[in-house]
Amino acid sequence: MSSQRYSLFSVLRESLRGHTGWKPAWREPEPKPSYDVVIVGGGGHGLATAHYLARVHGVTNVAVIEKGWIGGGNVGRNTTIVRSNYLLPGNVPFYEHAMKLWEGLEQDLNYNAMMSQRGIINLFHSDGQRDAYARRGNAMRLHGVDSELLDVEQLKPILPMLDFDNARFPVKGGLRQARAGTARHDAVAWGYARAADGRGVDIIQNCEVKGFRVENGRVSGVETSRGFIGAKKVGVAVAGNSSRVAAMAGLRLPIESHVLQAFVSEGVKPFIDTVCTFGAGHFYISQSDKGGLVFGGDIDGYNSYAQRGNLPTIEDVCEGGMALMPTIGRVKLLRHWGGIMDMSMDGSPIIDRTPVDGLFLNAGWCYGGFKATPASGWCFAHLIATGEPHPVAAAYRLDRFATGRLIDEKGVGAQPNLH
Ligand SMILES: Cc1cc2nc3c(=O)[nH]c(=O)nc-3n(C[C@H](O)[C@H](O)[C@H](O)COP(=O)(O)OP(=O)(O)OC[C@H]3O[C@@H](n4cnc5c(N)ncnc54)[C@H](O)[C@@H]3O)c2cc1C
Repeated sequence: MSSQRYSLFSVLRESLRGHTGWKPAWREPEPKPSYDVVIVGGGGHGLATAHYLARVHGVTNVAVIEKGWIGGGNVGRNTTIVRSNYLLPGNVPFYEHAMKLWEGLEQDLNYNAMMSQRGIINLFHSDGQRDAYARRGNAMRLHGVDSELLDVEQLKPILPMLDFDNARFPVKGGLRQARAGTARHDAVAWGYARAADGRGVDIIQNCEVKGFRVENGRVSGVETSRGFIGAKKVGVAVAGNSSRVAAMAGLRLPIESHVLQAFVSEGVKPFIDTVCTFGAGHFYISQSDKGGLVFGGDIDGYNSYAQRGNLPTIEDVCEGGMALMPTIGRVKLLRHWGGIMDMSMDGSPIIDRTPVDGLFLNAGWCYGGFKATPASGWCFAHLIATGEPHPVAAAYRLDRFATGRLIDEKGVGAQPNLH
């Protein structure tokens, strides 16, 4: 890597010379006329793809084209939860691959992503729900993933603030994945950007892709707000804008875009040291290192490309929080924001070729794509570099909606806003 190495030694050296020697974390290059690979979208997935193309496959003549700024999309808007507690065989190996990459990410990127394996506990409130979580935990164990079913007595010391005897939603236990946790979302984008740039990848910000040039069924580059950029291969990783960008290549995707909101409270003293999800409504919570309670819930139930949400969902999320832990009613809400989710028809992602030769698609992350970032980049890079799907992402095919090989983790059918 050609970029400056971050280390205790470099911090000490810079502190002695007034911090005058730090270099920008990545360059601001002008776009070249053409590249071997152009990645559209400088979110977590696009940047991770560029990093692994360079590091794993030695493909360094790569540009990441971002219409805004690095970290301005969902990668900098999510609630930072990483986990691999999935049920279905199509999903568990992929998310566990991501989890393993998370565990070594900071060393790989030489960047502090504030990875914190504080665990996640999914609460259950009925006997039927306990059975469902036991099944999920067993499926995880069969794939070699850690999981543990906790009863109420085991939960009480970990989450003493829960309303265990709530008359409507009594807490009966929880499924824990101890290796899950949180990572600082925008540091992940910056870390990948810096590492990719250090291997020669051009990160082009403020450059919008406005069309694809396709000749004889094969992509030959992208039309952008800064002119045409040629490419032998193009990977699209634009999350909430997937349908709009794919339409520029004449593709209609099995994806709807919805808004998801997140919330952070004022900073408070240490309150909760794990991630916790409510099982009788859509509410989940963790605490940031600054002390803010970070929480979220359901998507706003209508299609939108606006990065902001509406009041009924705020009310719904706060009701969930109050039902689970009434004490948080005394905390002041500091900020809330929204991001656009690329909701697929079965709730699982797509990492595949498209009918246009040389054009690859990475999409359909719904509201779970942050935890997938390292594996998504790893597998997308593998597909682009070798032309073959990576084994852990082989099920994420674009044609599965036509062939019926769906990966419907929640079992709610083709109803994207329910996944
Ligand atoms: C409120 C909220 C909470 C969430 N919580 C979690 C969570 O706790 N755990 C979890 O796993 N996931 C979570 N997610 C989901 C996760 O953030 C996303 O699935 C994931 O970040 C999407 O991938 P990305 O990082 O590549 O997307 P993005 O960061 O959105 O990247 C896509 C990029 O493409 C760019 N782009 C779009 N169109 C163009 C164009 N025409 N030309 C050039 N560039 C373009 C955009 O500007 C954007 O920067 C959450 C999302 C939100 C909004």
